[in-house]
Amino acid sequence: MHATPIDILRGTFGFREFQGLQQPIIDHVCSGGDALVLMPTGGGKSLCYQIPAMVRAGVGIVVSPLIALMQDQVQGLTQMGVRAAYINSSLPAQEAAAAERRMVAGDFDLVYVAPERLLQPHFMQMLQAVDVALFAIDEAHCVSQWGHDFRPEYTQLSVLGERWPSVPRIALTATADGPTQTDIIRQLGFGNARVFSAGFDRPNISYTVVPKDHPRRQLLSFIRERHQGDAGIVYRMSRKKVEETATWLEAQGIPSLPYHAGLSQNERRDNQERFMREEGLVMVATVAFGMGVDKPNVRFVAHLDPPKSLEAYHQETGRAGRDGLPADAWMAYGLADVVLLRRMLDSGGASDERKRVEARKLEAMLGFCETATCRRTALLGYFGEKHPGGCDNCDNCLQPVETWDGTIAAQKALSCIFRTGQRFGAGHLADVLMGHATARVKNMGHDELKTFGCGTELDRQGWQSVYRQLAAAGLLRVDMEGYGSLLLNEASWTVLRGEREVVLRRDPIAAKGRARVRSK
Ligand code: ADP
Ligand code: ZN
Repeated sequence: MHATPIDILRGTFGFREFQGLQQPIIDHVCSGGDALVLMPTGGGKSLCYQIPAMVRAGVGIVVSPLIALMQDQVQGLTQMGVRAAYINSSLPAQEAAAAERRMVAGDFDLVYVAPERLLQPHFMQMLQAVDVALFAIDEAHCVSQWGHDFRPEYTQLSVLGERWPSVPRIALTATADGPTQTDIIRQLGFGNARVFSAGFDRPNISYTVVPKDHPRRQLLSFIRERHQGDAGIVYRMSRKKVEETATWLEAQGIPSLPYHAGLSQNERRDNQERFMREEGLVMVATVAFGMGVDKPNVRFVAHLDPPKSLEAYHQETGRAGRDGLPADAWMAYGLADVVLLRRMLDSGGASDERKRVEARKLEAMLGFCETATCRRTALLGYFGEKHPGGCDNCDNCLQPVETWDGTIAAQKALSCIFRTGQRFGAGHLADVLMGHATARVKNMGHDELKTFGCGTELDRQGWQSVYRQLAAAGLLRVDMEGYGSLLLNEASWTVLRGEREVVLRRDPIAAKGRARVRSK
Protein backbone atom coordinates (compact mmCIF):
# COMPACT_ATOMS: atom_id res chain seq x y z
CA MET A 1 0.00 0.00 0.00
CA HIS A 2 1.50 3.30 -1.06
CA ALA A 3 1.38 6.46 1.05
CA THR A 4 -0.52 9.55 -0.10
CA PRO A 5 1.30 12.75 -1.13
CA ILE A 6 0.40 14.59 2.07
CA ASP A 7 1.62 11.65 4.22
CA ILE A 8 4.95 11.77 2.41
CA LEU A 9 5.19 15.55 2.67
CA ARG A 10 4.70 15.38 6.43
CA GLY A 11 6.26 12.04 7.30
CA THR A 12 9.32 12.08 5.06
CA PHE A 13 10.00 15.74 4.32
CA GLY A 14 8.71 17.17 7.59
CA PHE A 15 6.63 19.98 6.04
CA ARG A 16 3.08 20.78 7.14
CA GLU A 17 1.43 21.91 3.93
CA PHE A 18 2.00 22.07 0.22
CA GLN A 19 2.86 25.48 -1.05
CA GLY A 20 1.93 27.27 -4.27
CA LEU A 21 1.08 24.91 -7.09
CA GLN A 22 2.74 21.83 -5.58
CA GLN A 23 -0.51 20.05 -4.75
CA PRO A 24 -2.19 20.33 -8.18
CA ILE A 25 1.07 19.46 -9.94
CA ILE A 26 1.67 16.41 -7.77
CA ASP A 27 -1.93 15.22 -8.19
CA HIS A 28 -1.70 15.63 -11.96
CA VAL A 29 1.55 13.68 -12.26
CA CYS A 30 0.47 10.99 -9.78
CA SER A 31 -2.55 10.32 -11.97
CA GLY A 32 -0.32 9.90 -15.02
CA GLY A 33 -0.44 13.32 -16.70
CA ASP A 34 2.48 15.17 -18.30
CA ALA A 35 3.36 18.56 -16.81
CA LEU A 36 5.49 21.56 -17.69
CA VAL A 37 6.29 23.41 -14.49
CA LEU A 38 7.45 27.04 -14.55
CA MET A 39 8.32 28.10 -11.04
CA PRO A 40 10.92 30.55 -9.78
CA THR A 41 14.05 29.43 -8.04
CA GLY A 42 13.33 28.44 -4.49
CA GLY A 43 9.67 27.79 -5.36
CA GLY A 44 9.82 24.13 -4.38
CA LYS A 45 10.06 22.36 -7.72
CA SER A 46 11.87 19.27 -6.43
CA LEU A 47 8.95 17.92 -4.42
CA CYS A 48 6.79 18.12 -7.56
CA TYR A 49 8.56 15.08 -8.96
CA GLN A 50 10.02 13.51 -5.82
CA ILE A 51 6.65 12.87 -4.20
CA PRO A 52 4.95 11.41 -7.30
CA ALA A 53 8.00 9.17 -7.77
CA MET A 54 7.43 7.84 -4.27
CA VAL A 55 3.66 7.53 -4.61
CA ARG A 56 3.68 5.75 -7.94
CA ALA A 57 4.98 2.22 -8.33
CA GLY A 58 8.47 1.92 -9.76
CA VAL A 59 11.40 4.28 -9.95
CA GLY A 60 11.34 7.96 -10.92
CA ILE A 61 14.09 8.80 -13.40
CA VAL A 62 15.33 12.38 -12.98
CA VAL A 63 17.32 13.95 -15.81
CA SER A 64 19.58 16.67 -14.50
CA PRO A 65 22.41 18.48 -16.26
CA LEU A 66 24.51 19.09 -13.19
CA ILE A 67 26.52 16.45 -11.47
CA ALA A 68 27.11 18.51 -8.32
CA LEU A 69 23.40 19.16 -7.96
CA MET A 70 22.56 15.47 -8.29
CA GLN A 71 24.94 14.58 -5.51
CA ASP A 72 23.46 17.20 -3.18
CA GLN A 73 19.92 16.13 -3.87
CA VAL A 74 20.63 12.44 -3.44
CA GLN A 75 22.54 13.04 -0.24
CA GLY A 76 19.66 15.08 1.18
CA LEU A 77 17.09 12.48 0.15
CA THR A 78 19.09 9.60 1.57
CA GLN A 79 19.36 11.39 4.90
CA MET A 80 15.59 11.59 5.01
CA GLY A 81 15.33 7.88 4.33
CA VAL A 82 14.33 8.11 0.67
CA ARG A 83 15.76 5.34 -1.51
CA ALA A 84 17.66 7.45 -4.03
CA ALA A 85 20.81 7.20 -6.13
CA TYR A 86 22.58 8.95 -8.96
CA ILE A 87 24.34 7.52 -11.95
CA ASN A 88 26.80 9.72 -13.80
CA SER A 89 30.34 9.97 -15.02
CA SER A 90 31.65 10.90 -11.56
CA LEU A 91 31.04 7.32 -10.37
CA PRO A 92 33.67 4.63 -10.96
CA ALA A 93 32.40 2.12 -13.53
CA GLN A 94 31.87 -0.60 -10.92
CA GLU A 95 29.77 1.60 -8.69
CA ALA A 96 27.71 2.79 -11.62
CA ALA A 97 27.12 -0.82 -12.64
CA ALA A 98 26.11 -1.72 -9.09
CA ALA A 99 23.68 1.20 -8.92
CA GLU A 100 22.20 0.12 -12.25
CA ARG A 101 21.68 -3.42 -11.01
CA ARG A 102 19.94 -2.15 -7.91
CA MET A 103 17.77 0.12 -10.03
CA VAL A 104 16.67 -2.86 -12.14
CA ALA A 105 16.02 -4.82 -8.97
CA GLY A 106 13.64 -2.09 -7.79
CA ASP A 107 15.76 -0.85 -4.89
CA PHE A 108 15.20 2.87 -5.59
CA ASP A 109 12.35 5.34 -5.69
CA LEU A 110 14.46 7.98 -7.41
CA VAL A 111 17.45 7.76 -9.72
CA TYR A 112 19.20 10.91 -10.97
CA VAL A 113 20.96 10.55 -14.26
CA ALA A 114 22.80 12.87 -16.64
CA PRO A 115 21.15 13.17 -20.06
CA GLU A 116 24.13 11.76 -21.97
CA ARG A 117 24.07 8.70 -19.73
CA LEU A 118 20.35 8.19 -20.04
CA LEU A 119 20.57 8.33 -23.84
CA GLN A 120 23.26 5.67 -24.10
CA PRO A 121 21.83 2.61 -25.89
CA HIS A 122 22.97 0.41 -23.00
CA PHE A 123 21.05 2.50 -20.48
CA MET A 124 17.94 2.76 -22.61
CA GLN A 125 17.98 -0.99 -23.10
CA MET A 126 18.29 -1.58 -19.39
CA LEU A 127 15.41 0.78 -18.67
CA GLN A 128 13.14 -1.45 -20.74
CA ALA A 129 13.35 -3.95 -17.91
CA VAL A 130 12.62 -1.32 -15.25
CA ASP A 131 9.28 -0.29 -13.86
CA VAL A 132 9.44 3.48 -14.45
CA ALA A 133 7.20 5.65 -12.25
CA LEU A 134 7.89 8.89 -14.12
CA PHE A 135 10.50 10.85 -16.01
CA ALA A 136 11.44 14.25 -14.58
CA ILE A 137 13.41 16.65 -16.76
CA ASP A 138 15.01 19.27 -14.56
CA GLU A 139 16.34 22.60 -15.92
CA ALA A 140 14.17 21.99 -18.96
CA HIS A 141 15.17 25.30 -20.56
CA CYS A 142 18.44 23.54 -21.50
CA VAL A 143 16.50 22.04 -24.41
CA SER A 144 16.18 25.41 -26.09
CA GLN A 145 18.93 26.62 -28.32
CA TRP A 146 17.59 30.14 -27.83
CA GLY A 147 18.30 29.83 -24.13
CA HIS A 148 21.60 30.51 -22.49
CA ASP A 149 22.22 27.02 -21.11
CA PHE A 150 21.69 24.98 -24.26
CA ARG A 151 22.54 21.27 -23.84
CA PRO A 152 22.34 19.45 -27.16
CA GLU A 153 21.53 16.09 -25.50
CA TYR A 154 18.34 17.57 -24.13
CA THR A 155 16.89 17.79 -27.63
CA GLN A 156 16.93 13.99 -27.84
CA LEU A 157 14.81 13.50 -24.74
CA SER A 158 11.61 13.34 -26.79
CA VAL A 159 12.54 9.68 -27.20
CA LEU A 160 11.26 9.11 -23.66
CA GLY A 161 7.71 9.95 -24.66
CA GLU A 162 8.01 7.78 -27.75
CA ARG A 163 9.32 4.68 -25.99
CA TRP A 164 7.33 5.03 -22.79
CA PRO A 165 4.08 6.65 -23.91
CA SER A 166 2.21 5.69 -20.75
CA VAL A 167 4.83 6.95 -18.28
CA PRO A 168 4.14 10.52 -17.08
CA ARG A 169 6.77 13.15 -17.77
CA ILE A 170 7.35 16.35 -15.87
CA ALA A 171 9.66 19.11 -17.14
CA LEU A 172 10.70 21.88 -14.77
CA THR A 173 12.40 25.24 -15.15
CA ALA A 174 12.74 28.53 -13.36
CA THR A 175 13.19 30.51 -16.53
CA ALA A 176 11.47 30.31 -19.88
CA ASP A 177 10.23 33.17 -22.00
CA GLY A 178 7.83 32.64 -24.90
CA PRO A 179 10.25 31.19 -27.46
CA THR A 180 11.86 28.94 -24.85
CA GLN A 181 8.50 27.59 -23.66
CA THR A 182 7.52 26.84 -27.24
CA ASP A 183 10.83 25.09 -27.75
CA ILE A 184 10.44 22.96 -24.63
CA ILE A 185 6.97 21.86 -25.70
CA ARG A 186 8.04 21.14 -29.26
CA GLN A 187 11.41 19.54 -28.61
CA LEU A 188 10.26 17.33 -25.76
CA GLY A 189 7.01 16.40 -27.50
CA PHE A 190 5.03 17.93 -24.64
CA GLY A 191 1.99 18.81 -26.74
CA ASN A 192 -0.41 17.20 -24.27
CA ALA A 193 1.29 18.44 -21.13
CA ARG A 194 -0.48 20.73 -18.73
CA VAL A 195 1.43 23.93 -18.11
CA PHE A 196 1.70 25.01 -14.49
CA SER A 197 3.08 28.52 -14.20
CA ALA A 198 3.65 29.78 -10.72
CA GLY A 199 4.64 33.22 -11.84
CA PHE A 200 8.08 34.68 -12.16
CA ASP A 201 7.86 37.45 -9.61
CA ARG A 202 10.44 37.61 -6.86
CA PRO A 203 8.89 40.24 -4.62
CA ASN A 204 11.84 40.43 -2.24
CA ILE A 205 14.25 41.45 -5.01
CA SER A 206 14.61 45.18 -5.61
CA TYR A 207 15.60 46.15 -9.18
CA THR A 208 17.84 49.10 -9.99
CA VAL A 209 19.47 50.14 -13.26
CA VAL A 210 21.93 53.03 -13.27
CA PRO A 211 23.67 54.76 -16.17
CA LYS A 212 27.23 53.54 -16.36
CA ASP A 213 29.90 56.22 -16.08
CA HIS A 214 32.59 55.05 -13.67
CA PRO A 215 31.52 51.43 -13.36
CA ARG A 216 34.02 50.24 -10.78
CA ARG A 217 33.49 53.22 -8.54
CA GLN A 218 29.74 52.90 -8.90
CA LEU A 219 29.95 49.24 -7.93
CA LEU A 220 32.14 50.03 -4.96
CA SER A 221 29.80 52.65 -3.57
CA PHE A 222 26.82 50.36 -4.15
CA ILE A 223 28.53 47.64 -2.11
CA ARG A 224 29.86 49.98 0.56
CA GLU A 225 26.60 51.86 1.02
CA ARG A 226 24.20 48.97 0.86
CA HIS A 227 25.99 45.66 1.18
CA GLN A 228 29.11 45.98 3.24
CA GLY A 229 29.98 42.51 4.51
CA ASP A 230 27.26 40.76 2.48
CA ALA A 231 27.61 37.85 0.10
CA GLY A 232 27.00 38.86 -3.51
CA ILE A 233 27.64 38.03 -7.13
CA VAL A 234 29.04 40.48 -9.70
CA TYR A 235 28.53 39.45 -13.34
CA ARG A 236 30.96 40.56 -16.03
CA MET A 237 31.08 39.81 -19.72
CA SER A 238 34.64 38.50 -20.13
CA ARG A 239 37.24 36.53 -18.22
CA LYS A 240 39.60 39.47 -18.34
CA LYS A 241 37.06 41.82 -16.80
CA VAL A 242 36.27 39.23 -14.13
CA GLU A 243 39.91 39.06 -13.12
CA GLU A 244 40.32 42.84 -13.17
CA THR A 245 37.23 43.51 -11.12
CA ALA A 246 37.95 40.81 -8.55
CA THR A 247 41.50 42.02 -8.03
CA TRP A 248 40.37 45.60 -7.77
CA LEU A 249 37.55 44.91 -5.28
CA GLU A 250 39.95 42.88 -3.18
CA ALA A 251 42.38 45.84 -3.17
CA GLN A 252 39.53 48.06 -1.96
CA GLY A 253 39.00 45.77 1.00
CA ILE A 254 36.01 43.80 -0.36
CA PRO A 255 36.84 40.06 -0.15
CA SER A 256 36.32 38.77 -3.69
CA LEU A 257 36.91 35.67 -5.79
CA PRO A 258 36.96 35.20 -9.56
CA TYR A 259 35.01 32.53 -11.44
CA HIS A 260 35.14 31.87 -15.17
CA ALA A 261 35.69 29.04 -17.62
CA GLY A 262 39.38 29.94 -18.02
CA LEU A 263 40.22 28.81 -14.47
CA SER A 264 41.20 25.23 -13.81
CA GLN A 265 38.50 22.91 -12.59
CA ASN A 266 40.10 22.86 -9.15
CA GLU A 267 40.21 26.62 -8.85
CA ARG A 268 36.61 26.88 -9.90
CA ARG A 269 35.52 24.24 -7.43
CA ASP A 270 37.54 25.81 -4.60
CA ASN A 271 36.17 29.27 -5.25
CA GLN A 272 32.61 28.02 -5.48
CA GLU A 273 32.98 26.05 -2.25
CA ARG A 274 34.43 29.03 -0.44
CA PHE A 275 31.62 31.22 -1.68
CA MET A 276 29.02 28.73 -0.44
CA ARG A 277 30.69 28.10 2.91
CA GLU A 278 32.13 31.44 4.01
CA GLU A 279 30.09 34.54 4.66
CA GLY A 280 30.55 37.94 3.11
CA LEU A 281 32.38 36.93 -0.06
CA VAL A 282 31.77 38.56 -3.40
CA MET A 283 31.97 36.26 -6.41
CA VAL A 284 32.98 38.09 -9.58
CA ALA A 285 31.97 35.83 -12.44
CA THR A 286 31.03 35.28 -16.04
CA VAL A 287 27.81 33.47 -16.88
CA ALA A 288 29.77 30.25 -16.31
CA PHE A 289 28.91 30.70 -12.65
CA GLY A 290 25.47 30.04 -11.47
CA MET A 291 23.31 27.15 -12.51
CA GLY A 292 22.72 25.16 -9.38
CA VAL A 293 24.22 27.77 -7.08
CA ASP A 294 22.00 27.44 -4.09
CA LYS A 295 23.26 29.82 -1.43
CA PRO A 296 20.22 31.20 0.38
CA ASN A 297 21.66 34.47 1.65
CA VAL A 298 23.14 36.04 -1.46
CA ARG A 299 22.14 39.65 -0.75
CA PHE A 300 22.92 41.20 -4.12
CA VAL A 301 23.54 40.39 -7.74
CA ALA A 302 25.27 43.18 -9.65
CA HIS A 303 25.68 43.37 -13.42
CA LEU A 304 28.56 45.53 -14.49
CA ASP A 305 27.85 44.44 -18.06
CA PRO A 306 24.32 43.80 -19.31
CA PRO A 307 23.24 40.20 -19.87
CA LYS A 308 22.19 39.12 -23.35
CA SER A 309 18.52 38.70 -22.55
CA LEU A 310 15.91 39.27 -19.88
CA GLU A 311 15.78 35.55 -19.43
CA ALA A 312 19.44 35.49 -18.45
CA TYR A 313 18.89 38.58 -16.31
CA HIS A 314 15.95 36.99 -14.52
CA GLN A 315 17.86 33.82 -13.86
CA GLU A 316 21.06 35.53 -12.74
CA THR A 317 19.34 38.05 -10.47
CA GLY A 318 17.16 35.21 -9.20
CA ARG A 319 20.18 33.88 -7.32
CA ALA A 320 19.78 36.73 -4.85
CA GLY A 321 17.53 36.44 -1.83
CA ARG A 322 16.55 32.80 -2.04
CA ASP A 323 15.90 32.99 1.70
CA GLY A 324 13.05 35.41 1.00
CA LEU A 325 14.74 38.35 2.74
CA PRO A 326 15.28 41.66 0.93
CA ALA A 327 17.93 41.51 -1.78
CA ASP A 328 19.17 43.79 -4.56
CA ALA A 329 19.51 43.35 -8.28
CA TRP A 330 21.67 46.21 -9.46
CA MET A 331 22.90 46.92 -12.96
CA ALA A 332 25.13 49.57 -14.49
CA TYR A 333 24.34 49.92 -18.13
CA GLY A 334 25.74 51.95 -21.01
CA LEU A 335 25.31 52.31 -24.74
CA ALA A 336 28.84 51.10 -25.50
CA ASP A 337 28.07 47.69 -23.99
CA VAL A 338 25.05 47.32 -26.17
CA VAL A 339 26.97 48.25 -29.29
CA LEU A 340 29.54 45.63 -28.33
CA LEU A 341 26.94 42.94 -27.67
CA ARG A 342 25.31 43.71 -31.03
CA ARG A 343 28.63 43.51 -32.81
CA MET A 344 29.45 40.19 -31.15
CA LEU A 345 26.10 38.88 -32.20
CA ASP A 346 26.47 40.04 -35.80
CA SER A 347 29.96 38.70 -36.23
CA GLY A 348 29.24 35.38 -34.54
CA GLY A 349 28.84 32.18 -36.52
CA ALA A 350 25.19 31.65 -35.63
CA SER A 351 22.50 31.09 -38.23
CA ASP A 352 20.50 34.09 -39.41
CA GLU A 353 17.43 32.80 -37.61
CA ARG A 354 19.30 32.53 -34.36
CA LYS A 355 20.83 35.98 -34.77
CA ARG A 356 17.37 37.41 -35.30
CA VAL A 357 16.00 35.83 -32.16
CA GLU A 358 19.00 36.95 -30.12
CA ALA A 359 18.72 40.47 -31.45
CA ARG A 360 15.05 40.56 -30.34
CA LYS A 361 16.08 39.36 -26.90
CA LEU A 362 18.71 42.05 -26.65
CA GLU A 363 16.16 44.69 -27.67
CA ALA A 364 13.84 43.55 -24.89
CA MET A 365 16.73 43.82 -22.46
CA LEU A 366 17.34 47.40 -23.58
CA GLY A 367 13.65 48.20 -23.24
CA PHE A 368 13.84 47.02 -19.66
CA CYS A 369 16.83 49.26 -18.99
CA GLU A 370 15.22 52.27 -20.63
CA THR A 371 11.73 51.99 -19.27
CA ALA A 372 10.38 54.81 -17.12
CA THR A 373 7.69 52.59 -15.65
CA CYS A 374 7.89 49.90 -13.00
CA ARG A 375 10.75 47.46 -13.74
CA ARG A 376 8.68 44.59 -12.40
CA THR A 377 5.95 45.29 -14.97
CA ALA A 378 8.56 45.23 -17.73
CA LEU A 379 10.36 42.12 -16.50
CA LEU A 380 7.27 40.04 -15.80
CA GLY A 381 5.58 41.31 -18.95
CA TYR A 382 8.41 39.74 -20.90
CA PHE A 383 7.45 36.36 -19.45
CA GLY A 384 3.83 36.96 -20.41
CA GLU A 385 2.75 37.91 -16.92
CA LYS A 386 0.80 41.04 -16.11
CA HIS A 387 1.92 43.18 -13.17
CA PRO A 388 0.00 46.36 -12.42
CA GLY A 389 3.16 48.33 -11.61
CA GLY A 390 3.81 50.49 -8.61
CA CYS A 391 5.72 47.68 -6.91
CA ASP A 392 7.48 50.10 -4.59
CA ASN A 393 10.52 47.91 -4.84
CA CYS A 394 12.31 49.11 -7.96
CA ASP A 395 14.21 52.31 -8.72
CA ASN A 396 11.53 53.68 -11.03
CA CYS A 397 8.82 53.23 -8.39
CA LEU A 398 10.97 54.55 -5.56
CA GLN A 399 12.55 57.55 -7.31
CA PRO A 400 10.53 58.77 -10.24
CA VAL A 401 12.71 59.34 -13.31
CA GLU A 402 12.68 62.40 -15.48
CA THR A 403 10.08 61.84 -18.14
CA TRP A 404 8.35 63.54 -21.02
CA ASP A 405 4.85 63.26 -22.35
CA GLY A 406 5.37 60.75 -25.11
CA THR A 407 1.70 60.34 -25.98
CA ILE A 408 1.94 61.93 -29.41
CA ALA A 409 5.23 60.22 -30.23
CA ALA A 410 3.68 56.91 -29.17
CA GLN A 411 0.65 57.54 -31.36
CA LYS A 412 2.89 58.27 -34.34
CA ALA A 413 5.00 55.20 -33.64
CA LEU A 414 2.00 52.91 -33.32
CA SER A 415 0.19 54.35 -36.27
CA CYS A 416 3.31 53.78 -38.36
CA ILE A 417 3.20 50.11 -37.36
CA PHE A 418 -0.44 49.92 -38.40
CA ARG A 419 -0.04 51.70 -41.73
CA THR A 420 2.90 49.57 -42.78
CA GLY A 421 0.92 46.42 -42.08
CA GLN A 422 2.52 45.19 -38.83
CA ARG A 423 5.33 43.50 -40.69
CA PHE A 424 8.41 45.58 -39.82
CA GLY A 425 10.98 46.15 -37.12
CA ALA A 426 11.91 49.39 -35.40
CA GLY A 427 14.69 50.33 -37.84
CA HIS A 428 12.46 50.47 -40.89
CA LEU A 429 9.65 52.14 -38.96
CA ALA A 430 12.07 54.82 -37.78
CA ASP A 431 13.07 55.47 -41.41
CA VAL A 432 9.43 55.96 -42.36
CA LEU A 433 8.76 58.26 -39.41
CA MET A 434 11.84 60.38 -40.10
CA GLY A 435 11.05 60.55 -43.81
CA HIS A 436 14.13 58.67 -45.01
CA ALA A 437 13.37 57.43 -48.48
CA THR A 438 15.62 54.38 -48.33
CA ALA A 439 15.47 51.80 -51.09
CA ARG A 440 13.35 49.58 -48.89
CA VAL A 441 11.01 52.39 -47.98
CA LYS A 442 10.53 53.22 -51.66
CA ASN A 443 10.15 49.59 -52.67
CA MET A 444 7.35 49.15 -50.18
CA GLY A 445 5.73 52.42 -51.19
CA HIS A 446 6.06 53.61 -47.62
CA ASP A 447 7.18 57.05 -48.78
CA GLU A 448 3.59 57.59 -49.83
CA LEU A 449 2.09 56.92 -46.43
CA LYS A 450 0.61 59.63 -44.24
CA THR A 451 3.08 58.80 -41.50
CA PHE A 452 6.09 59.20 -43.81
CA GLY A 453 8.18 62.04 -42.39
CA CYS A 454 5.74 62.84 -39.58
CA GLY A 455 8.35 62.20 -36.92
CA THR A 456 11.33 64.44 -37.59
CA GLU A 457 11.45 65.52 -33.95
CA LEU A 458 13.37 62.40 -32.99
CA ASP A 459 16.40 60.76 -34.52
CA ARG A 460 16.78 57.09 -35.28
CA GLN A 461 18.07 56.24 -31.78
CA GLY A 462 15.19 58.22 -30.36
CA TRP A 463 12.50 56.30 -32.27
CA GLN A 464 14.10 52.97 -31.54
CA SER A 465 14.06 53.86 -27.87
CA VAL A 466 10.38 54.83 -28.11
CA TYR A 467 9.60 51.42 -29.63
CA ARG A 468 11.61 49.58 -26.97
CA GLN A 469 9.93 51.53 -24.20
CA LEU A 470 6.50 50.84 -25.68
CA ALA A 471 7.33 47.14 -25.84
CA ALA A 472 8.62 47.15 -22.27
CA ALA A 473 5.44 48.88 -21.11
CA GLY A 474 3.28 46.28 -22.89
CA LEU A 475 1.90 48.87 -25.33
CA LEU A 476 2.91 46.84 -28.36
CA ARG A 477 3.88 43.27 -29.04
CA VAL A 478 7.09 41.95 -30.58
CA ASP A 479 6.89 38.88 -32.77
CA MET A 480 9.71 37.14 -30.93
CA GLU A 481 9.56 33.92 -32.90
CA GLY A 482 9.42 35.37 -36.39
CA TYR A 483 11.28 38.29 -37.84
CA GLY A 484 10.83 40.55 -34.86
CA SER A 485 8.04 42.54 -36.46
CA LEU A 486 6.29 44.97 -34.17
CA LEU A 487 2.59 44.29 -33.77
CA LEU A 488 -0.28 46.15 -32.17
CA ASN A 489 -2.16 44.75 -29.21
CA GLU A 490 -5.26 45.90 -27.35
CA ALA A 491 -3.27 48.35 -25.26
CA SER A 492 -1.86 49.93 -28.43
CA TRP A 493 -5.39 50.87 -29.47
CA THR A 494 -6.11 52.66 -26.21
CA VAL A 495 -3.10 54.85 -27.01
CA LEU A 496 -4.12 55.34 -30.64
CA ARG A 497 -7.65 56.30 -29.61
CA GLY A 498 -6.23 58.88 -27.23
CA GLU A 499 -7.60 57.11 -24.15
CA ARG A 500 -4.28 56.77 -22.54
CA GLU A 501 -1.23 58.92 -21.91
CA VAL A 502 2.25 57.60 -22.43
CA VAL A 503 5.14 58.68 -20.27
CA LEU A 504 8.63 58.11 -21.65
CA ARG A 505 12.00 58.44 -20.04
CA ARG A 506 13.54 61.76 -20.95
CA ASP A 507 17.09 60.65 -21.10
CA PRO A 508 17.17 56.96 -21.85
CA ILE A 509 20.19 55.48 -20.23
CA ALA A 510 21.19 53.94 -23.54
CA ALA A 511 22.18 57.30 -24.93
CA LYS A 512 23.04 59.26 -21.87
CA GLY A 513 24.06 62.78 -22.74
CA ARG A 514 22.42 62.80 -26.15
CA ALA A 515 19.65 65.19 -26.90
CA ARG A 516 16.68 62.92 -27.15
CA VAL A 517 14.00 65.28 -28.24
CA ARG A 518 15.23 67.71 -30.83
CA SER A 519 12.23 69.97 -30.89
CA LYS A 520 9.22 69.82 -28.73
P1 ADP B 1 13.57 24.98 -6.58
O1 ADP B 1 14.09 23.68 -7.13
O2 ADP B 1 12.26 25.38 -7.17
O3 ADP B 1 14.58 26.11 -6.64
P2 ADP B 1 13.54 23.55 -4.09
O4 ADP B 1 12.79 22.37 -4.54
O5 ADP B 1 15.02 23.43 -3.93
O6 ADP B 1 13.24 24.79 -5.06
O7 ADP B 1 12.86 24.11 -2.77
C1 ADP B 1 13.27 25.32 -2.19
C2 ADP B 1 13.16 25.23 -0.67
O8 ADP B 1 11.79 25.23 -0.26
C3 ADP B 1 13.80 23.99 -0.12
O9 ADP B 1 14.54 24.33 1.00
C4 ADP B 1 12.62 23.11 0.22
O10 ADP B 1 12.93 22.22 1.25
C5 ADP B 1 11.56 24.12 0.63
N1 ADP B 1 10.19 23.62 0.43
C6 ADP B 1 9.71 23.02 -0.67
N2 ADP B 1 8.40 22.71 -0.51
C7 ADP B 1 8.05 23.11 0.74
C8 ADP B 1 6.81 23.07 1.50
N3 ADP B 1 5.70 22.54 1.00
N4 ADP B 1 6.84 23.60 2.73
C9 ADP B 1 7.97 24.16 3.22
N5 ADP B 1 9.15 24.23 2.57
C10 ADP B 1 9.19 23.71 1.33
ZN1 ZN C 1 8.32 48.97 -9.51
